[in-house]
Amino acid sequence: MTQSTQGTPVTYRDGSYIVPDDPIIPFIEGDGTGRDIWRASQKAFDAAVAKASGGTRRVVWLEVLAGEKAFKEAGSWLPEATLETLTKYRVAIKGPLTTPVGAGIRSLNVALRQLLDLYACVRPVRWFEGVPAPVKRPQDLNVVIFRENTEDVYAGIEYAATSKEAARLREILVSDFKAKLREQSAIGIKPMSEFGSKRLVARAIQYALDKRKPSVTLVHKGNIMKFTEGAFRDWGYQAARERFGGRTITEAELAGGDPGDRVVVKDRIADSVFQQLLLRPREYSVLATPNLNGDYLSDACAAQVGGLGIAPGANIGDGYAIFEATHGTAPKYADLDKINPGGVILSGVMMFEHLGWEDVAELIVRGFEGAIRSRRVTYDLARQTEGATEVSTSAFADQIVECMG
Ligand code: NAP
Repeated sequence: MTQSTQGTPVTYRDGSYIVPDDPIIPFIEGDGTGRDIWRASQKAFDAAVAKASGGTRRVVWLEVLAGEKAFKEAGSWLPEATLETLTKYRVAIKGPLTTPVGAGIRSLNVALRQLLDLYACVRPVRWFEGVPAPVKRPQDLNVVIFRENTEDVYAGIEYAATSKEAARLREILVSDFKAKLREQSAIGIKPMSEFGSKRLVARAIQYALDKRKPSVTLVHKGNIMKFTEGAFRDWGYQAARERFGGRTITEAELAGGDPGDRVVVKDRIADSVFQQLLLRPREYSVLATPNLNGDYLSDACAAQVGGLGIAPGANIGDGYAIFEATHGTAPKYADLDKINPGGVILSGVMMFEHLGWEDVAELIVRGFEGAIRSRRVTYDLARQTEGATEVSTSAFADQIVECMG
């Protein structure tokens, strides 16, 4: 594995990255299948950078430890050195990390997002021709989900049923606020702020304006959770009005008219969005959601266009970003050279776009589309594709490189 600091750090000034020809980019290999996936992904990235630049640019990959590998080698799930390196180099890419359920270490992914204040989880969902999908017209879904990444029930304010914290909170809720609660209830808190909601929605609107997308839909469950999810909707409309006045228009104001080059801002209740994205996907473009809704929605959308194995993602803040696939460690396939590396490879596409290396990103997409068309694909796609040949993780990466042209 390349392990070098003989490169130049990416810097950030006045809201933009300054990217040298030899950027140092830290990577976390990831647990489980992460090892196989990273090897394959790095190969595809290096080939694309070399080809796009004629050898004048290269990425200097810098491995940082997290998860099981970090625990084995450094005695910590998330070593201080990793946090320092990620902070110093600003843009990184990671494989999946194990999160034990119920007890043990808190989610490393959540910790990383909070450390760098990576407040937007961005997940583009589109179909690639040839990918088997469970719906008749997967090509109709082409959305980018902006999920708030730091608040909501993911804030980690949660107490076990038997804890003294839960007992104290129950007491306050029942005696001071007359809330109705079962004794011994566990307590989780769902904080959602005006600041957090507005900056997420603003980022989604800015993206829609930059990429000439027609609409931003605020997804919420405000009919039930009026003061959290309902406020997310209200703050979202306010952000549109205050920060993007003449460049946005609400669906209500539009009343079926022509928005011109303005982005239409609308809102939908979360449960209805799940059915709408299946039945009328073309009516949606950019979606802005609170944390938990966005988590569910992005997996559902990924499945609709052919599955988790190829769903990319990014966690983005102001001047910091970590790119990662949507899927987890899929431990039963660890070290079998079997799993689909597409999720991390397409997350790399997002990373190169974010850094302004669009030529590299386009080449990887071209290679990926070609590999899918060749029907020499990993097990997950092969089992659903007629006439396909199942190939290993590494062979699929080779196929992508070959198809770059
Ligand atoms: P998962 O690892 O995403 O795997 C669930 C299933 O999805 C797999 O068994 C496999 O389906 C399919 N799949 C996942 N990745 C794939 C790929 N690259 N190619 C093809 N198929 C793929 O979800 P999980 O089993 O719920 O979670 C395992 C661990 O990962 C947990 O500790 C969880 O906390 C963690 N996790 C981490 C992250 C992250 O680091 N960002 C995200 C999610 C979960 P088949 O069995 O049908 O082949």
